[in-house]
Amino acid sequence: MIEKLYDLLNKNNIPEYRFNQIIHSIFKQRIGKYEDMKTLPKNIRELLINEFGSTVYKVKPTLENDSEQVGKMLFELCDGNKVEAVRLRYQRGWESFCISSQCGCCFGCKFCATGTLGLKRNMTAEEITDQLLYFFLSGHNLDSISFMGMGEPLANPHVFEALSLLTTPNYFGLSQRRITLSTIGIIPGIRRLTEEYPQVNLAYSLHSPFDEQRSELMPINKTYPLHEVMKVLDNHIQCTGRKVFIAYILLDKVNDTMKHVEALVKLLKGRGACSRLYHVDLIPYNHTDKTESRFTPSNSNQIQRFRKKLQDAGIEVTVRAQFGSGVNAACGQLYIKSV
Ligand code: SAH
Ligand code: SF4
Repeated sequence: MIEKLYDLLNKNNIPEYRFNQIIHSIFKQRIGKYEDMKTLPKNIRELLINEFGSTVYKVKPTLENDSEQVGKMLFELCDGNKVEAVRLRYQRGWESFCISSQCGCCFGCKFCATGTLGLKRNMTAEEITDQLLYFFLSGHNLDSISFMGMGEPLANPHVFEALSLLTTPNYFGLSQRRITLSTIGIIPGIRRLTEEYPQVNLAYSLHSPFDEQRSELMPINKTYPLHEVMKVLDNHIQCTGRKVFIAYILLDKVNDTMKHVEALVKLLKGRGACSRLYHVDLIPYNHTDKTESRFTPSNSNQIQRFRKKLQDAGIEVTVRAQFGSGVNAACGQLYIKSV
């Protein structure tokens, strides 16, 4: 909307300060309807409504599964495609938002419900940020944002435009450090992120330290093999001085054995000065009825053994808290029938 808004005002010879007033109404006063922007004369409000519709966001919130701690929102896009976003509230009121970057996903990771959908299309930058605009204008605080909803963010170039909107001071004005992007390892995208958004938190979905197994679970490994990706991540660490998160889903007897954890330790400890900046994020597998039944979550003893091995080797490790699985809003459970 922002770019189109600028053009629209220009075309109609409306002075630039009106643009600033509209931006101020949205991002400072949290006004979501053009008709409520009383600092604007009626004719401008009508022009905006005719051009953009009544609300400043174009995505249509269609269904919400809500609780105090977790909310799952289904957004309908202009062409009827649907995506999901998840809101999490932590203790002390900290709010975190997990947003989608694509309608569906073409990468077909075996354990992921979104992966069974195939790719419908990339979301535009405006659609991506509209998910957040909706929450912001409903009174929520955008304390942290993660690109961990549907789709692979680094396979959609519009994600970079979205990052620009999110970090521009007059718009969302978020610090890069409040944003986390999770990727299966799209090398050109990681390089671009290192260059353009060095402070954005980067998570790499590894899930197996063995090439052959990773290729089986995540076909992208054939295009961007894990050892190549690790070199690019080392470079990211060297250029930015920032931590890189290694996401690792724990699948019972598939990738949670001692052989796996030993290979993972070797992979991460063998990176010279970069080693200390790798942080492993263990993710308990979330059940989905769209993925194969051979995948079940590791039990808590196994998770703890895996965690301890990493910790004993001096690797920073956390086990990701389980939120949202009750409403199918947890990682990997996002799936929309009509996509
Ligand atoms: N496409 C990106 C971001 C979206 S998925 C990526 O894959 O990294 C966000 C995270 O959820 C990834 O780490 C992904 O591997 C993980 N995930 C996928 N399916 C899951 C499942 N069934 N249970 C737990 N985590 C899952
Ligand atoms: Fe796509 Fe990520 Fe799911 Fe893989 S895990 S299918 S890349 S959304």
